[in-house]
Amino acid sequence: MTQPIASAAARPGLMGLEDALSQLLVHALPLQDMETVPTFDADGRVLAHDVVSAMHVPPQDNSSMDGYAVRCADVGFVGAALRVTQRIPAGQQGTVLKPGEAARIFTGASIPSGADAVVMQEDTQVVSDADAVGGSQILVQVVPQTGQWIRRSGEDVSRGDIVLKRGDRLLPASLGLAASIGLSQLQVYRKPRVALFSTGDELVMPGDVAPEDMKPGAIYNSNRFFLRALLHRLGCEVSDLGIVSDRRDLTVAALKGAAEGHDLILTSGGVSVGEEDHVKPAVQALGRLDLWQIGMKPGKPFAYGQVHREGQKGSAHFMGLPGNPVSSLVTFLLLVRPFILQMQGVPATAPAHVMLPAHFDVPKADRRREFLRVRRNAQGGLDLFPNQSSGVLTSAVWGDGLIDKPAGTSIQKGDSVTYISFADLLL
Ligand code: AMP
Ligand code: MG
Repeated sequence: MTQPIASAAARPGLMGLEDALSQLLVHALPLQDMETVPTFDADGRVLAHDVVSAMHVPPQDNSSMDGYAVRCADVGFVGAALRVTQRIPAGQQGTVLKPGEAARIFTGASIPSGADAVVMQEDTQVVSDADAVGGSQILVQVVPQTGQWIRRSGEDVSRGDIVLKRGDRLLPASLGLAASIGLSQLQVYRKPRVALFSTGDELVMPGDVAPEDMKPGAIYNSNRFFLRALLHRLGCEVSDLGIVSDRRDLTVAALKGAAEGHDLILTSGGVSVGEEDHVKPAVQALGRLDLWQIGMKPGKPFAYGQVHREGQKGSAHFMGLPGNPVSSLVTFLLLVRPFILQMQGVPATAPAHVMLPAHFDVPKADRRREFLRVRRNAQGGLDLFPNQSSGVLTSAVWGDGLIDKPAGTSIQKGDSVTYISFADLLL
């Protein structure tokens, strides 16, 4: 088992992740504005109302096989002969089936009244019969059960059923279900509007400067790429404001502009304790800021605040992520994501986790709760990426998830650890 180390309890002054999250979520009021979108375009959107079906699905009893609709009373023994008097392809309506008759029927076609079972064609034998009026004759080679191979009207959805609920994030299958009850449009919450910018004078954009032309000290802006992608995946409208230099006046101007027309301003870098960190004083000047030292690794510095809009028009939320790429990624997944979910009206439940055996040792207990980048292996256990530095983004690409390692604990090979897959955090 994981061994707690008594002397390594969470350092006083660090805030627990759960505390940080609950303080944060107090501010994440659901956006009330709704819009109507074509069902075609509603993938990933969040439903703003319960969807109630005005109809049964399927609308009528229909066949789930290619075969013959029959009356069971006519087929009490193997080899019963029936006259085929009608042919009902999908989309067409048959006529009443009388005693002694069978209807040739195809998958999806409505069951004619009078019929109470379908016999699949593999269980019949067609016999030519010169005397038969209006068609051939079949021999039914198995005795059917009442109702067999019939899909009942309403067996998927009944009229009045709530098929999708307010707050559901629409997935591809949900769109199909909405379409199956005749809805070409859906009412959804509007997308959260997020302004994104990166801070740091060392940052350059890929494409602007070739690797061989990089000045000493320069690095490419990687956070901008994954933060933007993560926001899009969550269904946000993103205004990407690019890179803001490490200057107070420019940071203030960027924040002021971003507060207008956005629900949330998300930045990376500039929230730790260095004097080049201009984001904190800039937010303080324009609203209010809580700077948290969270007892998590990676990702200790994290800022939440509000930037007032001009003219009493409320304020935009502000979240400042640490600059180190893995810290930025992990704090996004564990703090920003639930905030955005709650703003969208989706219940921000804790990410799904499973217990899996560690196939590695982490002898050193850390004072902070650690989120280590790991990967499931073919033996059903977890492997650890060797370099867990918060600047090593390779760890997050190599890995398929995080283990949540409590503060003050070590891991021995074979220990059962809490694993959260990236896939579950990207939904
Ligand atoms: P900061 O939080 O601004 O002190 O930055 C911490 C570290 O993260 C520094 O090494 C920065 O160069 C790096 N960093 C900050 N922003 C980015 C970014 N957008 N992309 C890649 N690395 C970054
Ligand atoms: Mg910086």
